[in-house]
Order: sequence, then structure tokens, then C-alpha cells
Amino acid sequence: MKELPLFPVTTVGSWPRSVPLLRAQRQKQRGQLSQPDFAKLADAAVQEVLRRQEAAGVDFVTDGEQRRDNFYSFVTEKLAGVQLMTLAQMLEVVEDKAGFERILETLDVPAYAISNPTCIGPVKRLSPLALDEYLYTRSQTDRPIKVTLPGPYLLTRAMWVKEVAQKVYPSKEDLGEDVVKILKAEIQELIQAGADFIQLDEPVLTELVFTSGQTRTFMCAALSARADPTEELEFAVSLLNRVLEGAEAVRTGLHICRGNWSQKESTLLSGSYFPLVPYLNRINVRQLVLEYATPRAGELAALLGSENIRAEKELGLGVVNPRTPRIEPAETIVGRVKEALQYLPSRQIFLNPDCGFGTFSNRPMNSDEVAEAKLKTMVEAAAILRQEAAAIAY
Ligand SMILES: [Zn+2]
Repeated sequence: MKELPLFPVTTVGSWPRSVPLLRAQRQKQRGQLSQPDFAKLADAAVQEVLRRQEAAGVDFVTDGEQRRDNFYSFVTEKLAGVQLMTLAQMLEVVEDKAGFERILETLDVPAYAISNPTCIGPVKRLSPLALDEYLYTRSQTDRPIKVTLPGPYLLTRAMWVKEVAQKVYPSKEDLGEDVVKILKAEIQELIQAGADFIQLDEPVLTELVFTSGQTRTFMCAALSARADPTEELEFAVSLLNRVLEGAEAVRTGLHICRGNWSQKESTLLSGSYFPLVPYLNRINVRQLVLEYATPRAGELAALLGSENIRAEKELGLGVVNPRTPRIEPAETIVGRVKEALQYLPSRQIFLNPDCGFGTFSNRPMNSDEVAEAKLKTMVEAAAILRQEAAAIAY
């Protein structure tokens, strides 16, 4: 890969889907559209998303997750032993029905719109999770590519609906072993194929520290959470580090946010990254891809006060909010980056939105136009920062 400019601009992954693509996705799920026919439409959608990112001037592009129904349940069709369960089906099997109903009440998403990838048998890879997506994207752009994957903790926790999964795996840890094998193999194949940046999504980590053991969740996977968040966080660190073993050759990232399913900020979680710092310090990932445009994410000092983080990590700094219609002025972004520069050298700072623009395909957070304008304002800010850096260097 050729040398990167300072303050590389990238996205967190997803992009809004077009109406025809969403229709095709529903038809495919109902068995009314073949995989090759869906792929043709998705290929065209990926080309369009790449064109928009290239036009905006993004340095690391993604395929916009156009083939996925959302950022984690898409694995269902690629894995043996996993089945989508609707919330109604889950309610039937779980023991703590009252607790589950309480979770449903806190969601700002119609319950029928969510299905959970649930473990129903030994979990094995039937086909790559993202390698095929990467190879297609590679054939369509010369720019460095970021590939997103659901993290091992997210996947294990979502798949583990105890009442069903325990028939196959004695414990969540046993299921985690197979999830680690799957993700590790995928990452190694992506490295072999030349992927430039592999990002693991673990948004649910914030839920462990900001809901203090209550079962409020944005992905109906909290059923399996232990009462003790510390134990869960240790489990997440161990899973992540095992998946990342042998991945030093590539830029790896860990994305953590506080939910991206609603434009109502008040329904999303709130709190700084501070309680996660002792764990983030020990995760062998090169870059932390974090939200910072939303005030709900707290101050930079809460994270960058840590000497270890400053010494060892790059920061993917969230500088635009994917959920708001307003385009952040480039000057505001420049100001935010300058704040980060008080802690980190310029080489360690990337610019990205707080999260994807279409984490759930049927619930995009913005239009293409607004998303593209937000990318452009980030690129504009990066250009100002690069110019200033060059002036100082001379
Ligand atoms: Zn996110």
C-alpha cells in the first residue's frame, strides 16, 4: 500500500441501501430471488457506494455493507448451526419472559423488525463471511479498503440463547471457541488476499458498562449477559486477542459505539470510554474506531489520559454524527482534531463518522446525500489539517 496521507479519512462501514436493493433483500430472504440475481443488484450498489466515497475523497473505502441485512446477523447464511429467530420465537423459548419483555419495551425499534442469529447446532463456516465481499470491492477500486466484521464477543453473545444453544454447547465459552476459530480463519484469508484494514465491531461493550447490569440492549442479545460486567469484559478481551493473534501484518481496528439504531439520541446509551480503558489497553488491536461527534461519548481526556493508549493505539476519531441531518462545518472538525493532537501525534489520528450510516439495512440513519456531504466535510477538514501540518514542517 502506498504511503498514507496524514489524517486519513474513512467510514465505519455501512451505507444506506437503495429502495430496489432493500426490496431484493426481502425477496431473497423469502426465497423469491436467487443468490446470483441478488448479487448482480448488490454489485451495482457497491459500485455506486464506491463512486460516492471516491468522489468525496475518502482514503479508505468500504463496500457500504450493501450485501448485509445488518452488521452482524448477515453471518447466519454463511454459517452452519445458526438460525435467525424473531423476537416472538425467542420469547417462547426463554425462561425469563418478564425480563425479556422489559428489554423489548426499552427498544425504539419495532420488535418485528429484529431477528437474532441464534446458535442451534455446531457452528461452522460454510462460506467466507467477508472475503468474497472484499474480493469484489478490490476488483472495483484502487483505493485502500477497510473490511468490517462482527467481533467475537458480539457474535458469541448474540448467538448464545441459553435455552437453545445449551443443547449443543455446554457453555457460552465453548461456543466462543468456535466463533474464535471462524473469525481467525477469516482474518487470515483477508490478510492473504491483501485487505488493508480489518475492523471488528463490538458496540455491545458499552452496554456492559453503561447499563450497570440492567438488561437494556439494542440487539436483544443481553439475555446471556452475566450480572458481573467485569467478567464479561474479560471474556471479550480474551476472545478478541485470540482472534487477533497473527494479524500483526494488517491494520486492525476495533469499533465501539453506544448504539446506532435511532435518531432519538435520548434512547441511546451515554457515558465516556473511561470504564473501558483498562480493557482497551490490553486488546491487541492497532486502532480504536470510536464515536466522539456525539456528546454522549464524553471527553477525549477520558480515553487519551491513558499513557498506554497514547503510546500504542491509533485513534479513529468520530467527527461527524451519522444520525443528524446537519452537516458539521469543517472548522468544527478541525477544532476537534486539534484537541486530539494535544494527546496524540498526527500519524495516529484517522477521521471517521461516529458509526455507519446504515447499520441496519431497513433502518438507515440518513440519506445518501447527507452521508456524502458528511464525508466531504471530513475530507475538507483533513485537507486543512494537512496544509497546516505541512506549513509547520517547513
Ligand atoms: Zn457503531
